Amino acid sequence: MIRGLWGSLVAFQVWDLTTPVQIRAAPFVFYHINSFKENYTLYFMSQNNSPRASDLFWDAIINAGTGVVECGFCGRTHFTLDGDYDLSRDEAADLLRKHRHNPEQYVQHHGDSISWGYLDGKQAVYECSCDKVRKYEQSFWNSRHVIAKYFTAKAKALTDLASDTQNLASKVAEATE
Ligand SMILES: [Zn+2]
Repeated sequence: MIRGLWGSLVAFQVWDLTTPVQIRAAPFVFYHINSFKENYTLYFMSQNNSPRASDLFWDAIINAGTGVVECGFCGRTHFTLDGDYDLSRDEAADLLRKHRHNPEQYVQHHGDSISWGYLDGKQAVYECSCDKVRKYEQSFWNSRHVIAKYFTAKAKALTDLASDTQNLASKVAEATE
């Protein structure tokens, strides 16, 4: 039973890494299996077997979709002409011309939108083949104990500061009544 479960999780994981979008649509993922899978994903990712950052990490980064965006990590320009974005005829023609001249640098996508978000102050593009984002995920994961301790301490410091400020505000209010 346990062996069977583990085997199916491993198979599941391989499927997840090769076709990351499909996993989101999988209707039969129970919560406990899912959280176990996520832990396994992080473990698997930390073993450096995947050339890409995980979708868990990308989900945390992505907060926008657009018709044209430049990857801030490698300088590639990504564009799609299939969505509802307001590209002028000249802009579209210019992008297509550049794409034909240098398809590696001007990458055309065929979808409604290109997903991206900021990481370390730079535009990270989900579809970009450079996937420099992976180094961040790996670094964060490798330093997770330090990061967890730091965030806990920082949250406490901010809570203490808020509390001190509130006390001060109350004293000022009392003194000026
Ligand atoms: Zn890139």
